[in-house]
Amino acid sequence: MNILLVEDEKALSNAIKKILEGRGYFVDAVYDGLSAIDYAKGMEYNLIILDVMLPKLDGFEVVRILRKDNIGVPVLMLTARTMIKDKVTGLNYGADDYMTKPFDTEELLARVSALTRRRGEVMIEDVGFEDLTLDLKTAELRCNGESVQLSKKEFEVMKLFLYNPKMTFTKDNLIINAWGMESEATDNNVEVYISFIRKKLKYLKSRVSIKNIQKIGYRLEVTGDD
Ligand code: CA
Repeated sequence: MNILLVEDEKALSNAIKKILEGRGYFVDAVYDGLSAIDYAKGMEYNLIILDVMLPKLDGFEVVRILRKDNIGVPVLMLTARTMIKDKVTGLNYGADDYMTKPFDTEELLARVSALTRRRGEVMIEDVGFEDLTLDLKTAELRCNGESVQLSKKEFEVMKLFLYNPKMTFTKDNLIINAWGMESEATDNNVEVYISFIRKKLKYLKSRVSIKNIQKIGYRLEVTGDD
């Protein structure tokens, strides 16, 4: 995780850098708004921590320019406690979160972790196995340039199989994971959904199919592998 820290008060900058590096983040520190723009455009960062009051270009201008240039990196703004109006302005310009100074270490780490995690989640858009790709946002299953829409339960079941392609799932496993612990679903529900998914795999002409393992459950099978 790479973080760009933009804070012109050297003592505060050093303190934040030390805290973040202690948690395994890589930190580049710059001390004015123009350098912030240069660094943000030249490097891939997971997060920018940006002070508002900066030499050369203030923090609001920095966010505005970055967003205008389609640089979508999450931005955590630092504002003085008295400048409540700043928060609104910062968020309007495209900052993702703000923190008032002074703040404590735990608060900083919690926000950094939340903002960098959000970024990580967005990047996982699909899961693939053999000729199949499952889009985790739209629940579309794709193969050979074709795609089918999965229903919510089909999606939950297929996601399990694709994340664990070598694993045999019992019907109970599938019920707990796709329907939930409290559900009233029965073996019969599982069979019905497996048959729906099989039809879709067949329609897609995928090499992947769902195999019955007698008295145990189901797992994926790839044609041509055995
Ligand atoms: Ca400042």
